[in-house]
Amino acid sequence: MTDEPETSQTRMARLILALRSQGVTDPRVLDAIERTPREIFTPDLFKERAFEDSALPIACGQTISQPFIVGLMTQALTLEPRARVLEIGTGSGYQTAILSRLSRLVYTVERYRTLMREAEERFKTLGLVNVITRFGDGGEGWAEQAPFDRIMVTAAAPEEPRTLLAQLKPNGVLVAPIGKGPVQSLRRYAGDGQGGFKVELLGDVRFVPLLDGVAREL
Ligand code: SAH
Repeated sequence: MTDEPETSQTRMARLILALRSQGVTDPRVLDAIERTPREIFTPDLFKERAFEDSALPIACGQTISQPFIVGLMTQALTLEPRARVLEIGTGSGYQTAILSRLSRLVYTVERYRTLMREAEERFKTLGLVNVITRFGDGGEGWAEQAPFDRIMVTAAAPEEPRTLLAQLKPNGVLVAPIGKGPVQSLRRYAGDGQGGFKVELLGDVRFVPLLDGVAREL
């Protein structure tokens, strides 16, 4: 036994084991998480905790999601390499980066300009060229680029997100936390090809709310 500080590799290996034991078993999802350095997305004050399986604060009173939830939601999205994906709530860009490694194109919308710009810098640093960003109200989706194969919402929608569901392909999949309170229900909507959806509940989650309009502050 030594008192050497742990390497990033050791910490990442432990995080991956923890995610697997909680049910994130898709090897492609685990590989994408392993290849995405979370410390780049974490504010300086919390970099030491980048490998912990917990949500952390970022600028503008928002949060970077917990790795387990990122894994669970990404796995539930059942991505394939040709997918065009819409993400609502860029935040730090961590979830975006994971999605970008598993799909063809990711369109991501954020209502804080500051967060959007910081995330864009990170995508550049990591060489993620298949991410297209937009400052705006994600509740409206991205009509000009619809329909999408997959949609992920990383802020809690107060009710079924009809506008977003309407921008999904007939056999598409949307994953979103739904609910008005501090605890929401994570739902997976799978299109049945005829305009209807099969809805699956994936468990309780805690997300910041999906708010109307863009933020007036930076
Ligand atoms: N996936 C992000 C989590 C960000 S938290 C990460 O891993 O870092 C949710 C984000 O959704 C916040 O940045 C918040 O500003 C954003 N958001 C909330 N309502 C929104 C809306 N209507 N349109 C776009 N973004 C929104």
